[in-house]
Amino acid sequence: MPCGRWVAVFLAILSLGMTGAFSQSTLVFPQLVEGPGASSFLVVMNAGWVEDTGQIEFFDSAGRPWGLIVGDTQRSVISYNIAPGGFTVVETSGGDSLSSGYVLVRSETEESRLAGTLRVLLGDQEVVFLDAPARREYLIFIEQSDSVRTGLAIVNLASEESTIRLEVLNDLGEVLAQQTLSMDAGHQLARFADQLLVDLPRSFQGVLRASSGQVFSLLGVLQDSTGALRSLAAPRLEEVRLPMPGPELFSGELALQHVADQLAHGARPTGSSEILKAGDEIQSKLRSLGWTVEQDLHTLDLGSIQIPVRNLVARSGEGPTVILGAHYDTRIWADRDPDPALREQRVPGANDGGSGTAVLLELARVISDHYVVNREIRLVFFDAEDNGNIEPWSLRPESLVGGWIIGSSLYAANLDLESEDIQFMILVDMVGDMNQRFPQEAASRASAADLVEEIWDIAASLGFEDVFLVQPGSAIVDDHRPFIDRGIPAVDLIDLDYPFWHTTQDTLDKVSAESLERVGRVLQSLLVQKEIIERKK
Ligand SMILES: [Zn+2]
Repeated sequence: MPCGRWVAVFLAILSLGMTGAFSQSTLVFPQLVEGPGASSFLVVMNAGWVEDTGQIEFFDSAGRPWGLIVGDTQRSVISYNIAPGGFTVVETSGGDSLSSGYVLVRSETEESRLAGTLRVLLGDQEVVFLDAPARREYLIFIEQSDSVRTGLAIVNLASEESTIRLEVLNDLGEVLAQQTLSMDAGHQLARFADQLLVDLPRSFQGVLRASSGQVFSLLGVLQDSTGALRSLAAPRLEEVRLPMPGPELFSGELALQHVADQLAHGARPTGSSEILKAGDEIQSKLRSLGWTVEQDLHTLDLGSIQIPVRNLVARSGEGPTVILGAHYDTRIWADRDPDPALREQRVPGANDGGSGTAVLLELARVISDHYVVNREIRLVFFDAEDNGNIEPWSLRPESLVGGWIIGSSLYAANLDLESEDIQFMILVDMVGDMNQRFPQEAASRASAADLVEEIWDIAASLGFEDVFLVQPGSAIVDDHRPFIDRGIPAVDLIDLDYPFWHTTQDTLDKVSAESLERVGRVLQSLLVQKEIIERKK
């Protein structure tokens, strides 16, 4: 009976190997069943404007290329070539015994836009799977009763061992059962949900949430008492689009997405409900990447009102500490807007507030996915940087000057330098504009000449000498200053030459993925060069 064979497939723990890097145009089908009476029908469609070429690859349960019968020859790799708007079909039939594997469709085409479906035929059963892309989180509605049971197939798409957390929640969001899976690189697990989560009630409906710091692919299948199978669609959440050159490198595209995510909350001035939501999102992103996150909370007395100031502090590793910082608040008034009528509107803060935050978030992903941290890296997201020269902010004593940099001043003032060894601090602020230029900010040169030289040398070695200018810039009041005042060498990467600074035009379209990527790669290379991080084996 077909369902009996399906059960057998899900009972097996399948070890699948992976080779090569994922690109943004890899389709993943995490479950393929082949054998007597079992076959597959794969359709790959090209929704792009150019011909798409690449390879369809089958992997067996041992991670080896899996030779399936295609036409009348046995093949594990099939090159394809699909016209724009066209499609290709691959029909396979497997070997002598029932066995399980998975399919990757890897495009070699830039700007590829592929979609695909996989029909698995099992006796008189047929089930259609969509591809299950690389993500860090999946939600699937699952159920179990006397008449239905849910199966899951999970593939670890990371290039190293990773931990995937499974939780089943009821309609109130309460945890019914949980489990943590440790999976080797490229390995696949295919089981029924009640075998993975032994505490599950005999009968329930719930949401399975799977999450990890690394990327994985997950598929659900519902089987009813008649043996009928149904694919369980995972709703769209964050899809992780990995950069083409290799996922170990900082991606400007992924960083730009973080800017967009910040902007989706609206303008984010200190004390607003928008900055609360944006800050919560920063924290949850960092936690899902495995960083330890704390809030550094203060209350600012502005006379008539009390304003909460919330710095966010993420840590990875132990030992002497390196701080990377950015402010995530946005200026409350667009008082440099060319149109006087708009000067009491808020600054959207794509570049001023969004760009530095985005660079730190994408760097956090690169570090946790691909590196071991040899010392402590601390990412600090400062609040209350940007309301300088506006009353009543400008009257506060917490700030060095005129109401700027209040969050970083409070944070730096409270550092216990007896117990903490803080080696240096680097600030990224307004780093994403199209016409990017970084002269060497004057206070940075005075406080950390060697570090400035090292950063600008790395930039030159990466081919960015036209952007990182070896020439002195003016001294800027920014979040690095309170650290310098405590004797900590600190460098400010800032491009103040930005026509939309403190205007209503500081919007997403003014920020460049390439600019974010240059800054991120320089920081990534610096951390490697100083042996603060090293590649995972
Ligand atoms: Zn600003």
